[in-house]
Amino acid sequence: MTTGIAVLGSTGSIGTSTLNVLTRHPERFRIVALTAHAKRDLLALQAKAWSPDFVGLVSEKVEGWATGTECLVEAATRPDVDIVVNGIVGAAGLEATLAALRAGKRVALANKEALVMAGELARCAAQDGGGEIIPVDSEHSAVFQCLGGRASNFSRIILTASGGPFHTWSAAKVRRATVDQALNHPTWSMGRKISVDSATLVNKALEVIEAHFLFGAGYDQVTAVVHPQSIIHSFVEFADGSVLAQLGFPNMELPILYALTHPDRLHDDGTVRFDPLVAGALTFEAIRGDVFPAFGLGVAAGKAGGTAPAAFNAANEEAVAAFLAGRIAFGRIAQVIETTLEGHDNHRAAESLEAVLDADAEARSLARRALGAAA
Ligand code: NAD
Ligand code: MG
Repeated sequence: MTTGIAVLGSTGSIGTSTLNVLTRHPERFRIVALTAHAKRDLLALQAKAWSPDFVGLVSEKVEGWATGTECLVEAATRPDVDIVVNGIVGAAGLEATLAALRAGKRVALANKEALVMAGELARCAAQDGGGEIIPVDSEHSAVFQCLGGRASNFSRIILTASGGPFHTWSAAKVRRATVDQALNHPTWSMGRKISVDSATLVNKALEVIEAHFLFGAGYDQVTAVVHPQSIIHSFVEFADGSVLAQLGFPNMELPILYALTHPDRLHDDGTVRFDPLVAGALTFEAIRGDVFPAFGLGVAAGKAGGTAPAAFNAANEEAVAAFLAGRIAFGRIAQVIETTLEGHDNHRAAESLEAVLDADAEARSLARRALGAAA
């Protein structure tokens, strides 16, 4: 019996890496659904190569394919789907994540924004429907592997961060960084939005919140450290002081494969095997909170709880889109987030999808005002 896979966001960086992994294991997996937002030609090539029963293109109607945002939930909840790989970027991946968990699916989750916005709702959906989240994000996959698949008695989670392209730059130079410079990540090749998030260290703040929800860790138990070589993907310290880490050359195909096969490990020749002599020295530095203020803003939003993480995420999505469109300087991203969070009512509970989506919409309108555009 092969395992049925739905790949949401199949045309993106995580999506295409997923298809690479699946190409190597046809005896174990079959693709039953593919969805994308806009890259129609690439999606058509993928559909031709894999012949899935379901193809969804959100932004455009194509003969024989599903369309509109509802195609995401449809793909994620099909009876012939066992595992949903969620490689959608941003808030757009939230509803399909919740629906898949409620439908009892394993969700191999790269779309961290969904957990940041609605971590508690995702936990409840998994509990109600029998679904499970297996993290694809490399740091969380590392933590998950160190925990042995159980939330055992860890005392601390130390997430590693590459530090992004600006980790040695002065604050003044960082504020003026261009789009090309922000997209030029030193160790990972990723989509545009997460590349900018890595450069601002928003990505690491999103990951602290993600760890809080995935592993039930208090914010005092999760820290992050810059590790420019991106070889150690994270550390877990246990109650007795022992520390485990998971290592490998940076390549998302490994955490994707593990999310598909857990608790098994499948023989795979697709990625370069780790060699400590090739890796060389592994170094660590503190995050420079003064140069990368968005990191602290995100962690504070996580600690504030309720709808604050959703507001943080929404403000960041708006600010990053404006930066990528050339409308604001790099240094304005953190300012827009700060202004948005100041205007957001932190005391609302993220108790329903509606409450989360309301907070998301309100924060986007605050952020757009801060960006100087019509709200
Ligand atoms: P990407 O931009 O390369 O791909 C995004 C995919 O989502 C595309 O297929 C696109 O068509 C689809 N999409 C975009 N907007 C959509 C919408 N409104 N509705 C439906 N589909 C939509 O992004 P990526 O780098 O692959 O990142 C995807 C997710 O994985 C993000 O949450 C990111 O933070 C996370 N992640 C990525 C990496 C990586 O190496 N790329 C690593 C860890 C986590
Ligand atoms: Mg990561």
